[in-house]
Amino acid sequence: MKLKELISHLETLAPPAYQEAYDNSGLLFGDPEHTLTGAIISIDCTEEVVEEALQKGCNLIISHHPLIFKGIKRLSTSNYVERTLIKAIKSDIAIYAIHTNLDHVVHGVNKALGDKLGLQNLRILAPKSCLLKKLSTYCPTEHCDSLKNALFAAGAGQIGNYAECSFSLAGQGSFTPQKGAKPFVGTIGTRQVEAETKIEVMYPQHLERLVLQALKQNHPYEEVAYYLHELSNAHPEVGAGMIGELTEPQDEHTFLQLVKKQLGVPVIKHTHLLGKKVKKVAICGGSGSFLCAQAQAAGADLFITADYKYHEFFDADHKIVIADVGHFESEQFTQTLLFESITKKFPNFALHLTEQVTNPIKYLI
Ligand SMILES: [Zn+2]
Ligand SMILES: [Zn+2]
Repeated sequence: MKLKELISHLETLAPPAYQEAYDNSGLLFGDPEHTLTGAIISIDCTEEVVEEALQKGCNLIISHHPLIFKGIKRLSTSNYVERTLIKAIKSDIAIYAIHTNLDHVVHGVNKALGDKLGLQNLRILAPKSCLLKKLSTYCPTEHCDSLKNALFAAGAGQIGNYAECSFSLAGQGSFTPQKGAKPFVGTIGTRQVEAETKIEVMYPQHLERLVLQALKQNHPYEEVAYYLHELSNAHPEVGAGMIGELTEPQDEHTFLQLVKKQLGVPVIKHTHLLGKKVKKVAICGGSGSFLCAQAQAAGADLFITADYKYHEFFDADHKIVIADVGHFESEQFTQTLLFESITKKFPNFALHLTEQVTNPIKYLI
């Protein structure tokens, strides 16, 4: 398999357009045309992971955190990023990062964490706006079905668990073909009035090129009339954090013990327990302190995330319990998530989970 085939699958799982502006997800090193010998999945790309890839005969590392995050001005050996990169380049091992785009999708980092904690009905905590657009076009009525089929196939018309969503309204279109035109119906210089149907469909902005290509290839007119509308709607399936419910309410201490066990963390840093039953739980793998207000507004009893700073713990304000479970620990299941997704699509591909625990943080118990 070529690297680009695997990338195309990863981009379907977590479109690069869903990453944060500060992020650097995507192919960081490598040639998309190269044939893959195998891949290693890890949370972080370190020298040890590159060494492991070499040992296992893999020429691709798929990591959650991007090895190159800031601009690199030189490639000496003065820090681990430069050393890791040099080693990967010399060994011709490609590096692909799937970071905040995987944090933001419904079947991403937080779903993997939420499932492990037994949370039900998981949905995005802070959906992102301005990712959706709407297309309006006008089509001779008898061509509507084939046009809609093409638009749906290009990724338009998906709303939550509903596919092929559209709106149609019958009306009349008019046009006068000018000299040089090759009209589908009508004659040069005469105003033509045609029975047309207005079709409206929503689509994710990053699929616009494909949607417009489907429109132009499947609409019979020489000049296709269409409008693209920017929408400020939130995309309910893309955004930061998730929230879900426990099947049975549990007391705070019991639930935190379960979290500790499920994540394999020796210790959890948390704020005052409130003496309430925990039912609704907000989660955010990695650094999630920016979501505390949204977690409270959504009615969460407890917020599980990582990288909390001392002063930020005060934000709990006796209204919610904040639990810092460790950055790596909260994202560890992302490795299996990627493994399962790739294996399902490419069952015969030599794929490995790294044997390295790349978490740089150790606990002295
Ligand atoms: Zn993450
Ligand atoms: Zn992270």
